[in-house]
Amino acid sequence: MDDQKAAVYHAAELLDGEIDQPQIREAVTNILKAIGEDPQRDGLQGTPDRVARMYTELLAGYRTDPVALVNDALFDVDYDEMVIVRDIEFYSLCEHHMLPFIGRAHVAYIPKGRVLGLSKIPRIVDMFARRLQVQERLTRQIADFLDELLHPHGVAVVLEAYHLCAMIRGVKKHDARMVTSTMLGSFRTNLATRNEFFANIGRGAEPLSL
Ligand SMILES: [Zn+2]
Repeated sequence: MDDQKAAVYHAAELLDGEIDQPQIREAVTNILKAIGEDPQRDGLQGTPDRVARMYTELLAGYRTDPVALVNDALFDVDYDEMVIVRDIEFYSLCEHHMLPFIGRAHVAYIPKGRVLGLSKIPRIVDMFARRLQVQERLTRQIADFLDELLHPHGVAVVLEAYHLCAMIRGVKKHDARMVTSTMLGSFRTNLATRNEFFANIGRGAEPLSL
């Protein structure tokens, strides 16, 4: 494996092995028993299996091959204007409660001789969103991965999301929406670049709502 590939795998922060579905089924059965439910009653009989398959899908990002994901979509071009992909929907699971947080991502970079096909950026967001996450780390991982993949002049990532754990528990519902950002390279050092990005993602944007 060449150094660049190795660096991309490293930036993807994958987990080894496969998801252990029998163990999830057993755990869910135990949760049902612990609640006082009857895991054998009609409505619950298939639940452990459904939950095991659901987690396998929702947590698939731990085992996405990042090199296969981007391989046919890296292009060497002489272009150095800001590339922005905004309003990328994403779904993740907060690692504190294993409840969903749902929102949208805005991603920008300034190329330095290398660009990525636009359709790949939502898939990179998905690769990191489909894990147990905190929003701050998700934001940073997307930015760091693009930085490693493209070595651009700069990368900017803004995530806004609603956290179900904050919405359905307690009373502080106004705290449910959270905004995080990571700025690398010229987005960090150059105020005009940063302002251009924020002006663009603010233009015509609908407020995030569920
Ligand atoms: Zn939570």
